[in-house]
Amino acid sequence: WSRSVVKPGEVEKYLDSRGLDFIDEEAIFRALEETRTPDPRTVRDILDKSRAIQTLTPRETAVLLNVEDPDMLEEMRQTGLEIKLKVYDNRIVTFAPLYMANHCVNSCSYCGFRRENTGMHRRHLTMEEIRHEASALAGTFGHKRLVVVYGEHPLTDIDYLEESINAVYGVRVPTRRGHANIRRVNVNCAPLDIASLRRLREVGLGTYQVFQETYHRDTYRRVHGTQSLKADYRWRLYAMHRAQDAQVDDVGLGVLFGLYDWKFEVMGLLSHVRALESTACGIGAHTISFPRLEPAHNAPLTRSSRYAVSDADFLKIITVLRLAVPYTGLICTARETRDIRNQAVLRGITQMDASTRIGLGAYSSGHQNNFGETPPDPLAQEGQPSQDSCSQRDSCNPEDSYSQKEEEQQFLLGDPRTVEDLVRDLAAMGFISSFCTAGYRIGRRGERIMRLLRSCNEGNFCKLNAIITFREWLDDFATPETREIGEALIRQELAGAEQRTPALHTKFLDYYRRTSEGARDLYV
Ligand code: SF4
Repeated sequence: WSRSVVKPGEVEKYLDSRGLDFIDEEAIFRALEETRTPDPRTVRDILDKSRAIQTLTPRETAVLLNVEDPDMLEEMRQTGLEIKLKVYDNRIVTFAPLYMANHCVNSCSYCGFRRENTGMHRRHLTMEEIRHEASALAGTFGHKRLVVVYGEHPLTDIDYLEESINAVYGVRVPTRRGHANIRRVNVNCAPLDIASLRRLREVGLGTYQVFQETYHRDTYRRVHGTQSLKADYRWRLYAMHRAQDAQVDDVGLGVLFGLYDWKFEVMGLLSHVRALESTACGIGAHTISFPRLEPAHNAPLTRSSRYAVSDADFLKIITVLRLAVPYTGLICTARETRDIRNQAVLRGITQMDASTRIGLGAYSSGHQNNFGETPPDPLAQEGQPSQDSCSQRDSCNPEDSYSQKEEEQQFLLGDPRTVEDLVRDLAAMGFISSFCTAGYRIGRRGERIMRLLRSCNEGNFCKLNAIITFREWLDDFATPETREIGEALIRQELAGAEQRTPALHTKFLDYYRRTSEGARDLYV
């Protein structure tokens, strides 16, 4: 099986005429060295370029990475937030991760799922369990957008990926006012060949995420070993080029910060974005993720990395990424604490997860809604088979609230906030939670969405859809207190909507009214 994964020719065709890839380590080190003492005037010129929503060069990015002066760092933070508001407005897109399996043939020294962890109970969710998870996520927590996560293993091959995505999309759950369902499934999985990526596109893949983990070759070799599929640095490096060849428009990059020097890794991410921008399709990354190394069961590296990233440097990474790739979505996950994530919002991130559970089957085992009730099985309500899968689960006690078990998870979470908590916190900061998934379904994806983002016009559509989906969520899932806070925010947003998008205003008002009356999934 492992020999059939890497397809001949699906790396070589992207290399340059000398057979080299786009990570030029020497050039990265040189740029970082030559810009060690940044001059304020140069920094301000670079900030102007970011304000014009242009991707920075490696040298410009290196200058920003080397800024140490607190006043200048604050100026950079404010500019980053200004850009975020200009491109994305005050929306924060919400989502949840759904772990499908903990099987893995790889041996990453930072991961609890590594094959050496033989004591771990390994399994993948059955289709019935996936439907239960999706119904809990949509019907109890109110999520509309997921990122489904898989290890690399023959049991979770492309057939399983396809079937499991179909299972998620197939779930519809009755709610107070209508029905709920998952409307966008992003996928985080191993690098795939072009034919497999085409198959995922056919079943409605949203964003395809593959994190390089580290762009530094020696470190990559050290943490992944030589006897694993993941050891092939270039197969992973060109996953997104293959995705774009398969007409998967939205691709998500990421680095696991803490494996190597963080400044080098930011330069690696930038090189990756620029390499994608220079392909025939001309689209950079749709999103970038920047998880930090977290403790994981029996994963030696997580306890002793000399490259551990401090909170201050982590926040600086977000600021520099916001400035270097001004149009790209930035995802800050619940690995981070509530405090760090709130600070990240003020540095221009665009997406956050909430009510996050990363144990297998954890959303549907004993989940409670926002009113402290354990709701009846939504699948049973729909007349679908409701074979209780508890017998297959490690723990399925409805009385249990979610408690993290290090030995059963890939890593430990830092922010336990529910969607409700997050909605309230964001509203207090002046941000609206968006459950919108309209863009890709209406054709605003890939090159089209990038053009809208770069010209700062994307927010016009997405803000209206954010308001409509926020209305839906408040009516279907919020407690009375949260609804009150949300209503105040919506009144404010409605007041500014006409000015922002006069051409769409009549249609928007009609959709908003119909949504308030119980219609669902309307978007402009
Ligand atoms: Fe497998 Fe991914 Fe964990 Fe590596 S990081 S062991 S590939 S699940």
